[in-house]
This record gives sequence, C-alpha cells and structure tokens, in this order.
Amino acid sequence: MNKKDKGLVWLQTNLRLQSNSSIEAAASACKSLAFLYILPEHWFEPTSWGFTRIGEHRLRFLVDSLIDLSHNLEKQGHSLCFRRGNPEELIPALIQEYGFDSLFVQQIYASEEQKVMKSLHASLKIPMHLSDDNYLYRPDQLPFDLQELPEMFTRFRNSVERKPLKGRMGKLVDLKQNLSFELYSEPFPELTCAAHPWFAGGESAGLKHLKNYLNSGHVRHYKETRNGMVDKEESSKLSPWLALGCLNAHTVLALLREHEEEEGANESTYWLWFELLWRDYFRLVAARYGNALFLPGGIQGKRKKMAFKKAVFERFVEGRTPEPFVNANMNELRLSGWMSNRGRQNVASFWVHDLGMDWRAAAAWFEHSLIDYDVASNYGNWMYVAGVGNDPRPNRKFNIRKQAEQYDADGRYQQKWANR
Ligand SMILES: Cc1cc2nc3c(=O)[nH]c(=O)nc-3n(C[C@H](O)[C@H](O)[C@H](O)COP(=O)(O)OP(=O)(O)OC[C@H]3O[C@@H](n4cnc5c(N)ncnc54)[C@H](O)[C@@H]3O)c2cc1C
Repeated sequence: MNKKDKGLVWLQTNLRLQSNSSIEAAASACKSLAFLYILPEHWFEPTSWGFTRIGEHRLRFLVDSLIDLSHNLEKQGHSLCFRRGNPEELIPALIQEYGFDSLFVQQIYASEEQKVMKSLHASLKIPMHLSDDNYLYRPDQLPFDLQELPEMFTRFRNSVERKPLKGRMGKLVDLKQNLSFELYSEPFPELTCAAHPWFAGGESAGLKHLKNYLNSGHVRHYKETRNGMVDKEESSKLSPWLALGCLNAHTVLALLREHEEEEGANESTYWLWFELLWRDYFRLVAARYGNALFLPGGIQGKRKKMAFKKAVFERFVEGRTPEPFVNANMNELRLSGWMSNRGRQNVASFWVHDLGMDWRAAAAWFEHSLIDYDVASNYGNWMYVAGVGNDPRPNRKFNIRKQAEQYDADGRYQQKWANR
C-alpha cells in the first residue's frame, strides 16, 4: 500500500477511537480516510416472528453511540458518514464512485455477517483489511484449534487461564495527519424514546462509566451483588458499550488489572474477568458453529419440535403471564431495553420450560429489545437455557417463585415494574 491511498473504514460493532485496530491500520496506511456506518435496512423489516430486528431502545443507544463517535471524529478533523441500506450494495457502489483503494473492516463471527464479508471479498477489487479486536482472545491466540473448542465453558476457561492475560490499554488514534474524505451522510433516524438513565450511548460515556465503576470500589463487591436486579452498581453494566464496541474488552481488562495492582485483587475482581471470558466463549462458539446458532436444535443438532403460539407470546412480552416475577422483567425489557442477568435466566427458563415454546421467538424478541444485544451472547445464552447449547444438562428449569423469593425478597423489583 502507498501512503497516497484513500481508505474507507466501515465501522460496525467497533464504534470507538481508542484501541480500534481497523482505524489504526487505516490511519497508518492511507493518506485520506472516510468513515462509514451502515444501518442495515433489513433490521426494520418484520421477521417471521412478526416484529423487526431492532426496536426503539436498541436504536436509541446505537444512534447516541454514533453521534458520540461523530463528535469525536470531528475533534480530529474527520466526519462519520451515516447511511441506511444494504452493505453488499452500498460499499461496492461507494468504492466505485469515489475510487477508494482499500477497505478496513472488523471481523464479526456470526453467519449473516460472515456471508456479507465473503460476498464483499468476492466482489471487491481492492484489498479488504480485517481487524479482530472486540474480545480478549482472537481465535489464533487460543491454545487449541477453534474446531477443538471445549464444549463446556469450564474446560475452555481452565485452558486459557493457564496463560494469564493482562489487557492492553490502547491509545486514542491520532487522525490529524490524515486528510478527511467527505462522503454524503444521511441524517440520523428520528428517535422515539428517551435514553435509558443508566446508559448513555457512545465511547465517551462508556469510558467514564468504566472508570467510575472501578474507582468507586463497587467492583470489589461484584461477586456478592451481581445478581441484584434494582440498582445500577450491583453489576458492572458494561454490556451495552461492549456490545457496540464503544469499549474494547481489552480496555476493560487493562483497567481492571490496574485496579487490582493498586487496590489488590479479590474474588470479585476475579469474577468480572470470569464473566468477560463467558463473552469470549460465546463468540468462539458462534465462530465455530456458524448458522447452527439459529436452528431449533442449536449446536447440539437435536431434533426438537417446538411450539409457537402468538397469543402466548404476546402475553409473555407484554408482562401478562401468571408469574409476577416474569412479568416485571418482561415489562422492564419492553419499557427500557434492559434486563438483569438474573431476570434473563428466569424469563428464558419460563418461556422454554414452563410454557414449552420455541426459544428462537423469545431470543428474537431479546434481539429486538436489548440495548446490549450481541448476536453471540444472546443466541449462545438462549441455546444454553433451552438445552441445545453448551450445557450437557437438557433441562435447566428454574423454580420461578423460589428465584423471586431469593433475589427479590422484599418485592422491591416487582413493585417497580409491576402492571406496566
Ligand atoms: C437469555 C439471555 C440472553 C442474553 N443476551 C445477551 C446479549 O444479547 N448481550 C450481552 O451482552 N449479554 C447477554 N446475556 C448475558 C448477560 O445477561 C449480560 O451480559 C449481563 O446481564 C450484562 O450486565 P452487566 O454488564 O452488568 O454484566 P456483568 O455481570 O457485570 O458482567 C460483565 C460483562 O461480562 C459479560 N457477560 C456477563 N455474563 C455473560 C453471559 N452470561 N454471557 C455472555 N457475556 C456475559 C458481559 O459483557 C458483561 O458486561 C444474556 C443472558 C441470557 C440468560
């Protein structure tokens, strides 16, 4: 490559300027740069379940993250081009129209995204540079071949933990030496709902939240509080920023390790690392099993007949089941785009094991609703609960009443989200 080149950086779930290897590679290789985000048009078309891929809360967090990225680019003399459309059509058209010499893209290990990547690779006549930095371990850094990924999380964890990982605190990329190549940008979509009070979209808010969480010392009690359902500080609340790549998992780990060096490590700081490993694990499961994540029998390839009744589904998502604990959680999700991990486990178990319904319908509803929606974590967890994923036990059924007594003993959570 030659430093005269024009580079196009296509951003997806790496909406940040710090520790972003796509942007770093483009900045060092190309003279002028354009930054592009494409909101896929098909996310707004109803799926076979009768609703769209993206709902208002998820869209709000995404658009706020794009606005923040666009401001941060402007501070360095660049701009973000926002378009709605189909990447497979739009990217080749832009490359042809403006004569870009290379494309910089982030790797996403999910079957639909891989299909787009392959089709671009086949049709483009310019080099496509892939980055892979949204997780802790890249597949080529594992102590085993991806095809030998352990089927149980514990075995995966034991094997990667033999080589302690420090986390890299990447720099803020310097784009002042690069010329800005302006593309026509559409206005951001009109938003219909307010931002969640805990989650302001974007890298700036994400970094601030991460530092506050560590400096306030809440992380030191994470293991004991993480199953809480009412207060912000009970768990890290990092997932929305991690899902859109406003934060790099390496940045989280580097600051966590720094905290451990200064304040000492404890069971809670270890447990946060442990949960980040779950995130990596599900991403690797997606990389290994591809489209099986979306099949009724999941990665186990089980023959599974499942029911779907529209009226039952509507009562479930609208919080009108006979279980007040499930209803409160489903109300919270519908009205805010958020649900705690404890809530997610319970409503998933209820949908699959009490109602006996097709897990994929509720997983699709989570995809539509969650502001931290992440393809691998969502479908990986749903398969797990449904007994078609990485858990050898076929029936992970929760006793909902007991769970409510244990995790919402004073009823505070159910009161907050009842009858909405
Ligand atoms: C049915 C179901 C669907 C889910 N869908 C998603 C999803 O779409 N996106 C998503 O990020 N998480 C998903 N999760 C995992 C988990 O519920 C959330 O990551 C967690 O609740 C986010 O809150 P937190 O950031 O405070 O997590 P913390 O408890 O503070 O954990 C720290 C980080 O570790 C990661 N993590 C924690 N638990 C898990 C887990 N079980 N699987 C994968 N990563 C984990 C997350 O990145 C999280 O931010 C799902 C869980 C279930 C049971």
